[in-house]
Amino acid sequence: MTTIRHYIDGAETGTTDRTLPVYDPATGGAHRQVAAASAQEVEQAIASAKAAQKAWRASSLIKRADVFFRLRQILAERTDELAAIVTSEHGKVLSDAAGEVSRGIENVEFAAGLLHHLKGERAEQVSRGVDVHSVKQPVGVVACITPFNFPVMVPLWMVASAIACGNTVVLKPSEKDPSAAIWLAKAFQEAGLPDGVLNVVNGDKTAVDTLLDSTDVGAISFVGSTPIAKSIYERASANGKRVQALGGAKNHMVVMPDADLDGAAAAAISAAYGSAGERCMAVSVLVAVGDIADDLVDGIRTRIADLRIGAGTDSASEMGPLITREHRDKVESYVKGAAAEGATVIVDGTQKRFEGDGFFTGVSLLDNVRPGMQVYEDEIFGPVLSVVRVETYAEAVELINANAFGNGTAIFTRDGGTARQFEFDIEVGMVGVNVPIPVPVGAFSFGGWKNSLFGDSHIYGPESINFYTRSKVVTTRWPDHTPAQVDLGFPSNH
Ligand code: NAD
Repeated sequence: MTTIRHYIDGAETGTTDRTLPVYDPATGGAHRQVAAASAQEVEQAIASAKAAQKAWRASSLIKRADVFFRLRQILAERTDELAAIVTSEHGKVLSDAAGEVSRGIENVEFAAGLLHHLKGERAEQVSRGVDVHSVKQPVGVVACITPFNFPVMVPLWMVASAIACGNTVVLKPSEKDPSAAIWLAKAFQEAGLPDGVLNVVNGDKTAVDTLLDSTDVGAISFVGSTPIAKSIYERASANGKRVQALGGAKNHMVVMPDADLDGAAAAAISAAYGSAGERCMAVSVLVAVGDIADDLVDGIRTRIADLRIGAGTDSASEMGPLITREHRDKVESYVKGAAAEGATVIVDGTQKRFEGDGFFTGVSLLDNVRPGMQVYEDEIFGPVLSVVRVETYAEAVELINANAFGNGTAIFTRDGGTARQFEFDIEVGMVGVNVPIPVPVGAFSFGGWKNSLFGDSHIYGPESINFYTRSKVVTTRWPDHTPAQVDLGFPSNH
């Protein structure tokens, strides 16, 4: 059986004293195993990153940019190879995996513009003969801890900008689908990245805790579930590090009575069931405003009967399995308990039968869901769409703003005034207007509010440049030929 190990100082390495199974979710078989790093092995990766940082930081910006241009080419040319690796461990369909690679490429393209992003500021003559300028310098060693659901895109959200800014990195990918991170580290090396600048350690809490407690790690980027994000934020900030910890979500899509109902139904299906609902920007609550609810629910019910669910490698499949058997069972338990909570089960995906032992479930549609029900309050992270019926726009806004999460939301309407008001009113980090999954393009930054993000910085894009650098401000006077004077007063610029 293949063992996925670590990637430290430009080479695959690591003992296999402790391993974890890696499943093919379409068959349910553990087809690989991954080494779980000991604290010592993580320290070795941190030491490698620390040793490489001085020289990487001293390399010219143009040379750094070259790496990203070459990496972009490798990712574009070998997307299918990388997508197949993702599908073999995550289960998502190949076209979805290729889509993830293409969104990750946006972050590499952004990083290639590092010369522009790292430009500082300058003010001349702030006092007589005195100038001030600021520069952005790297934090040092950055640790990146990533979730299972985007094993290529989320590492690239972090690693591309961190490296562009002159940092070196230790990446700890999800133990559930670790192969893509090793592939990425090798691709970076092929693109010309010096050894030690990007290291990958595999494993679990032992590896993460070592990163959080190391005095040699300056910043932590984390993406995962809310309880872990919160604990990572607390522990790393108590250790004096800067932290951005992105958490879970419960994304609402509002459909106004004037919306194109057909378009809204299609968008809701795509956003709720794509990647089996295992996206942090998946739509999990549909808020039907006014008297359109029956037509909307009916439109969704009739269309989802035709969805093709099967192995991600089968080009006919539109949706694959869930990540693990335990997760599939947990998702199904929400659907099974929904009727007792008072929801109307329109489509019960748990009744769908599949051949073999893959972690499949069918898609579920629940109506008359209300706050307070478990299916409404929790992030289910599966192919379950809940419909909440409200009378007015104001009720829809109140519902969303009262929710503990604030990652993404969308409004479907033909009225520009309503859309503008929604943008103004809503307490959520990313908003779509007739766009169900408003993941910002790579030149903007990504982040939620409330329990969807702990820390101050959104991830990738312009905010990542500030997160991965420290600002230094330099005040300069060059001696002229006037006689020097002693003055103990506080220097004034007037
Ligand atoms: P997770 O929180 O279980 O794991 C994320 C990472 O943390 C993994 O690398 C894992 O090994 C590590 N980890 C798990 N338990 C830990 C512990 N006790 N101590 C230290 N480290 C630990 O998340 P997941 O199941 O891999 O991913 C799904 C979650 O991620 C969902 O909640 C989803 O909404 C969220 N997510 C959020 C975003 C976002 O941008 N906000 C993006 C993608 C995924």
